[in-house]
Amino acid sequence: MPTSVLVLGAGFGGLELSTRLAEELGDQVEVTLVDRSDAFVFGFSKLDVMFGTETVDAVRLRYADITTPHLRFRQETVTSIDPETRRVETDLDAYEADVLVVALGADYDLAATPGLVEAGNEFYSVAGAEAVRDILPTFRSGTVIVACAARRSSARRRRARPPCCWTTTCANEVFATTSGSGS
Ligand SMILES: Cc1cc2nc3c(=O)[nH]c(=O)nc-3n(C[C@H](O)[C@H](O)[C@H](O)COP(=O)(O)OP(=O)(O)OC[C@H]3O[C@@H](n4cnc5c(N)ncnc54)[C@H](O)[C@@H]3O)c2cc1C
Repeated sequence: MPTSVLVLGAGFGGLELSTRLAEELGDQVEVTLVDRSDAFVFGFSKLDVMFGTETVDAVRLRYADITTPHLRFRQETVTSIDPETRRVETDLDAYEADVLVVALGADYDLAATPGLVEAGNEFYSVAGAEAVRDILPTFRSGTVIVACAARRSSARRRRARPPCCWTTTCANEVFATTSGSGS
């Protein structure tokens, strides 16, 4: 019997692991890869979208194209995970596996950076990169702040290392790179 491996999240971590397992272990594994999206977009491709040198369609790598006999992709949203029984529910199905891998990444917490939601932009999401692409051609003059806005979740870590690089200068536009608040 092949070992069933359920990988949640087809980002950098989940996608690399799933394809490697399927390629290197072949018949020994049955890998199921679940992601709410139907395609992967490299982080740096969002820069191409933001600067208008590529369309979103051109940088999307469709998960359907990576399916092999040992790797199946399911476009579903994970709604619950029981790590003890390794049972997972999605909006469409339920799964149990011999090995469960959670690689769901981090959610962006834009509201954690004062002013970012109201007056800022980000290019970490595809939607954010598209929004900045549409703003850049209209920007003629003024001050731009490019900020790296990260937040740490634990009080101990916050004391050890404060959020980086936030500038309080007034600006016409704020473009921020954000990282999730998860870890
Ligand atoms: C513009 C940009 C540039 C970057 N440059 C670099 C770089 O140079 N070097 C570097 O090391 N890192 C870089 N990064 C960061 C890097 O992309 C992240 O560290 C990496 O993506 C994290 O991998 P991950 O597998 O943990 O999560 P992710 O890649 O975020 O994958 C998580 C996946 O889980 C899916 N998911 C989440 N929730 C659910 C759910 N409930 N149901 C189903 N699916 C779900 C998401 O759709 C996603 O596909 C960059 C990121 C961006 C945006």
